[in-house]
Amino acid sequence: MLIGSYSSSLVLISLCVAILASYTALDLTGRIATAKGRAVFLWMSGGALAMGVGIWSMHFIGMLAFSLPINLGYDLTLTALSLLIAVLSSGFALWLIAQPTLPVLQLAFGALIMGAGISSMHYMGMAALRMQPGIDYDPTLFGSSLAIAVGASAAALWIAFRLRQHTPYVRQIRGAAAVLMGIAIVGMHYTGMAAANFPEGSFCGALDGGLSGDGLDYVVLITTLAVLSVALLTSVLDARLEARTAELARSLTLANQELTQLALHDTLTGLPNRTLLADRIDQAIGKVAEQGGCFALMFIDLDGFKPVNDAFGHHVGDQLLKAVATRLRGHLHSQDTLARIGGDEFVLLVELQALEDAMDVAVKQVNLVSRPFRIAEHDLQLTASLGIVLYPGNGLDQLELLRNADAAMYHAKNGGKNGYSFFDVSMNSNARQQLQLLQDLRTAVEEGQFCLHYQPKFDAALRQPIGAEALLRWEHPQHGLLLPDRFISLAEKTGLIIPIGEWVLDEACRQMREWVEQGHGDWRIAVNLSAIQFCHAGLVDSVARALQSNRLPANRLTLEITETTAMRDADASLTVLQKLSDMGVDISIDDFGTGYSSLMYLKRLPANELKIDRGFVRDLEHDSDDAAIVSAIVALGQALGLRIVAEGVETDRQQDFLTRLGCDSLQGYLMGRPVPAEQFMLDLQQARGGAAPEEAISS
Ligand code: C2E
Ligand code: CA
Ligand code: CA
Repeated sequence: MLIGSYSSSLVLISLCVAILASYTALDLTGRIATAKGRAVFLWMSGGALAMGVGIWSMHFIGMLAFSLPINLGYDLTLTALSLLIAVLSSGFALWLIAQPTLPVLQLAFGALIMGAGISSMHYMGMAALRMQPGIDYDPTLFGSSLAIAVGASAAALWIAFRLRQHTPYVRQIRGAAAVLMGIAIVGMHYTGMAAANFPEGSFCGALDGGLSGDGLDYVVLITTLAVLSVALLTSVLDARLEARTAELARSLTLANQELTQLALHDTLTGLPNRTLLADRIDQAIGKVAEQGGCFALMFIDLDGFKPVNDAFGHHVGDQLLKAVATRLRGHLHSQDTLARIGGDEFVLLVELQALEDAMDVAVKQVNLVSRPFRIAEHDLQLTASLGIVLYPGNGLDQLELLRNADAAMYHAKNGGKNGYSFFDVSMNSNARQQLQLLQDLRTAVEEGQFCLHYQPKFDAALRQPIGAEALLRWEHPQHGLLLPDRFISLAEKTGLIIPIGEWVLDEACRQMREWVEQGHGDWRIAVNLSAIQFCHAGLVDSVARALQSNRLPANRLTLEITETTAMRDADASLTVLQKLSDMGVDISIDDFGTGYSSLMYLKRLPANELKIDRGFVRDLEHDSDDAAIVSAIVALGQALGLRIVAEGVETDRQQDFLTRLGCDSLQGYLMGRPVPAEQFMLDLQQARGGAAPEEAISS
């Protein structure tokens, strides 16, 4: 019997190759598990090749490590066949563990096939020696080599299947598993080798025309290492790429979430915005349709936010809005939605147990806002006006609900603010009428549908006319003659008061000029200024222009501004009034007694006249307080050197009383109602003739 020997360095190398091949195989299974489509097939075939070459070369290097006292060679075809078997069984193994599940039976069957593959490779490789006479195999060792092959395959398949997902420490576990698998494969090989007995006098039939010679081990080793490294490198790089892609996908999802947050929320308060609110209302409507129940929608508008914002600046304004949002939000259930839909406008969507609960919520919200806010060292006081709609009942869709809630909110605002109003159908028509009126007002400005009526002013003691107050009227094509209360505030809100006011100034001056030419050069024409006009930078110029183009001396014009307007921004008013006064225009403080005048300031105002509000005149005869106030105003006016006018004089007794108290001039229905200019002169002529003044309109 020939005694074989092993080169220990080659044995070691074969073990390393086996471990490396195992590691590569395990790594590749991870790739296959996460790949999709064609990539699965590519990874599988590439993997089968790398793993097959690895296992085979371990075996081949193992063969090279073995030497007999005779020369050895390897039959090319059989060697190639053994390589093919290695590749095919590797492919099968990879395919098996790429399956979604691996039941025990399948694992056993797979292990059997793979074990058979490895054994065939090994014994095919042995057969490639073409020993003459044939190799004599020890049956026990041969049997155990087969058992080791199947057992090692089973272990390898199971480990590979378990390790294919990315888990923490996967590399370390994979490394340990690879060492185990490598030892198993090597064990199978050397058990198989140990089983082989070469009878004395054997010779190698493959020496002729087969592979042989020195350096073959290096060629095989280097090729194998190259194949394995390429496979491993590709796998590792691909894993990195995949990790990067996953990272990118994660940040993309995050960015998407942020974008959604931005698109659906108000940036200042973080509350839902109009878009999200619309969606939530739709959901709430859907829920009521499916499960019944009800909800309320509350339109919350802050009263007095704008002055705070103007006085303390946007920074404080923003902080205040945030504080309001936080306070309101803090007292809601998580399923309720509080949205901010405009500067100081919020909308609250609350699910209700019963419709009656809406009032409790509304009261709570109003109270929450009315408690003072401490912002940047300031104690700020706000109130809120709330409009409430209920669903079902006050609208069919979110648009209608919001519109109605808005109308109800306006109602609450007009009703004195700091409170709430439930929607009522009449409010809606009001709101719609206002909108229509606003459109009509724009047309009115373009088409000049305005006219002035004049109400005479009389000298109290002499009972002689001393001029008139010009009062604006709108000849509405459908509604007829409209009084200022119907449209002045609308004109102020929209800024239309500026062009309208300029027209009034010009028209009043033109009329006064006509009267001057008719011999009434001692009269004065009074024109009312709204607060908006008064704050408008162009006012002084407009006045100058109206006077100049109508060639009217400035002292024929009286400008009436209300006490409240004059006192609002005292210093700014002073500047404007001073300019007007310097021009020679008369200044009258209208509705005097209704605002809060500071005496100090009143003294500095370049005013010429105080006009006692008609509220005091009305109750003069019954209310001793009013009488006291009127006489105090008269005394004050006299002390300050101002003329005192009383307006709203309707009875003879009022006339007598006011005259006795010392009023300089009087104005009221008793002496004349506001009428068009022609009628005005007719009335005066008739009055001189002793007849009662005629009424132009009955208000
Ligand atoms: P005002 O300046 O206090 O004008 C006096 C108002 O009292 C006028 O109402 C007049 O018709 C009414 N009146 C006069 N005598 C009596 C009376 O004896 N009894 C009663 N109950 N009322 C009397 P009108 O014309 O409806 O004007 C209302 C307000 O509209 C005015 O109050 C004024 O603030 C504003 N206004 C009128 N014309 C203009 C204008 O051209 N520009 C601006 N900005 N406001 C105007
Ligand atoms: Ca007036
Ligand atoms: Ca007045």
